[in-house]
Amino acid sequence: MDPFLAGSYLTVDLGALQENYRFLSSQSEMAECAAVVKADAYGLGLKEVGLALDAAGCRKFFVALPSEAVRLRKYLPAAEIFVLGGLFDGAENIYIDERITPVLNCLDEINRWSKATKEHGPLSAMIHLDTGITRLGLLQSDIEELNRNPHWLDGLEIRYIISHLACADTPEHPHNDFQLSELHRLRALLPPALHDVPVSFTNSCGIFLGPDFQFDLLRPGIALYGGNPVPGQKNPMKQVIHLQGKVLQVHDVDSKNAVGYGATWRCKENARVATVSVGYADGYFRALGDVGECAIENNKVSVIGRVSMDMISIDVTGLSEDKCQRGTLVSLIGGAIDLDELATQAGTISYELLTALGHRSHRRYINAVQ
Ligand SMILES: *Cc1c(COP(=O)(O)O)cnc(C)c1O
Repeated sequence: MDPFLAGSYLTVDLGALQENYRFLSSQSEMAECAAVVKADAYGLGLKEVGLALDAAGCRKFFVALPSEAVRLRKYLPAAEIFVLGGLFDGAENIYIDERITPVLNCLDEINRWSKATKEHGPLSAMIHLDTGITRLGLLQSDIEELNRNPHWLDGLEIRYIISHLACADTPEHPHNDFQLSELHRLRALLPPALHDVPVSFTNSCGIFLGPDFQFDLLRPGIALYGGNPVPGQKNPMKQVIHLQGKVLQVHDVDSKNAVGYGATWRCKENARVATVSVGYADGYFRALGDVGECAIENNKVSVIGRVSMDMISIDVTGLSEDKCQRGTLVSLIGGAIDLDELATQAGTISYELLTALGHRSHRRYINAVQ
């Protein structure tokens, strides 16, 4: 898209993404670092993110869905690709043709993948244990059934045992230690053939719970993209995205006027109000109306009134006229605006802001090291 045709600009710093990957890798001496690139790499672009992480040395990629795996395979012919969502019914041959490894989440998936090996020869897989999130994975009763039917594993090369933490963003939460002890306990109950299989346990926040949690393969997502993996502490990650909107008009409002739909914001004194061309259709949450902060250079300014589909209004009364004119760029996410803080203002988390980024912004990918 021609940048002159766009109302907002999304810059993705692939060099910062690559640095984040290396920083996360360096958090463990023993474990390899994979990358979670589900949901179009958290909204940042599967192709560009996948190629940049590959260039940074990442060899293992997790996606949620087989459709995402098939797409990623086109860009990364040699990478190992794992589908967290499991082995989808009827998609077995596509996993095989595209060399996609399923995370087997239940006994039915184990059975079906093992059956496929009769025709195709050995197939690789991961096995997911549910240690306390009750989302996906085998429970103790499943493991006991597997022990009674060890032939269900015939033909399968189990690469990793994985599990997922529910409360890793709250380090002091007792559920973290509970899940860790459940993982050790359930692992010991697995059929003997699986006892020495390496383990993958941690998402971004989990990596920072310490070496007991790290095992053999790290699975960060959000921290790669600049989200804070140690909430409440200074974010150690490099900022990856910068979303900017363009000022379309600046108004000197007299005190009788209201701003935006619903006339929820009223000028108390004479004010200057700028209209910026970004709205909820671009992923700028409607919940940020009256509460969001954005920035012109390093000057924080407030969103006033409601967020429209294509526009927001900001209060620039405190800025000199030359700082905010038609065409001025306003930082909405990134720059002086912290991703996690903005998410809090919107009543959500960084993940939802990133995955909601729209496709009307002009996208620019910079600083990738090949
Ligand atoms: C999404 C996901 C991750 C990555 O989580 P982040 O919090 O983004 O680091 C890791 N493992 C599983 C099973 C996931 O679903």
